[in-house]
Amino acid sequence: MSAIRIEDLTLGYDGHPAVHHLDGSFARGSLTAVMGPNGSGKSTLLKGVMGALKPLGGRVVLDGFGRRDIAYLPQLAEIDRSFPAVVADLLALGFWKRRGAFSAIRGADHKEMEAALARVGLSGFERRTIDTLSGGQLQRALFARVLVQDAPVILLDEPFAAIDERTVADLTDLITHWHGEGRTVIAVLHDAELVHASFPQTLLLAREPIAWGATATALTADNLRRARQMVEAWDEQAPWHEHDHDHDHDHRHDHDHDHRHDHGHGPAGQDHDHHHDHPASSRGTH
Ligand code: ADP
Ligand code: MG
Repeated sequence: MSAIRIEDLTLGYDGHPAVHHLDGSFARGSLTAVMGPNGSGKSTLLKGVMGALKPLGGRVVLDGFGRRDIAYLPQLAEIDRSFPAVVADLLALGFWKRRGAFSAIRGADHKEMEAALARVGLSGFERRTIDTLSGGQLQRALFARVLVQDAPVILLDEPFAAIDERTVADLTDLITHWHGEGRTVIAVLHDAELVHASFPQTLLLAREPIAWGATATALTADNLRRARQMVEAWDEQAPWHEHDHDHDHDHRHDHDHDHRHDHGHGPAGQDHDHHHDHPASSRGTH
């Protein structure tokens, strides 16, 4: 039985698709890793699922629950850490999402907050301001918020980016625990080894789906290579690249193609990894 059905879904920005023709479903109680190169549409997909982004085509069908029943952990880059808040404020958002905005925090909530913080190894951190937390501690606090939100569906966007191994292990444990409780969990990840070890399902994305299914068959070296090539090919063809004046890509031409700074259409830092581990030839001649 599916929890989330994706029907010929196209998502994008300003009318330009970022993810397209995605079809499939996340089964109720499934634990899925979303993998793919930078810019392959992983964050876009999560935003589409939680309803923050309206589809350009197709639809997302939630089976038996509403948007409010989704807990969402954004990429760290999207969190404003200068916001003058303490850890307890961060967790209060979890209660609000569970019960509706501006419900008062009750006495019992403090107990629950303490328990959630203890579960993620942050006992005694309620009054700490979030700008004093390390990356790992902030990620733990965000997991505590997911705990208090107590949602049947959990979306995690790169929860393990730039954090220490110990935190990765502890939080992977918590994800496995949520899976054991029958929650539907979708996490954007980068570490294939970790995914093979702890995530039964994988959706490999390259703006369109490359593979979606059991991790052992979906997450192969071949598929990963294919995903990388697809994202690069897409970047080359993207119609909104202003520098892309010559429309005829069939002939060989020998002008300099090293003007890669022109490709910086994405958020900062997103365009890195596909410029390195890639033979120059595929860009040198279209
Ligand atoms: P990923 O999370 O896999 O790195 P994203 O979903 O963030 O990829 O991005 C997919 C594509 O959509 C990229 O080309 C990115 O530049 C573009 N994109 C993402 N967010 C926006 C936005 N707010 N406005 C315009 N384009 C965006
Ligand atoms: Mg992302």
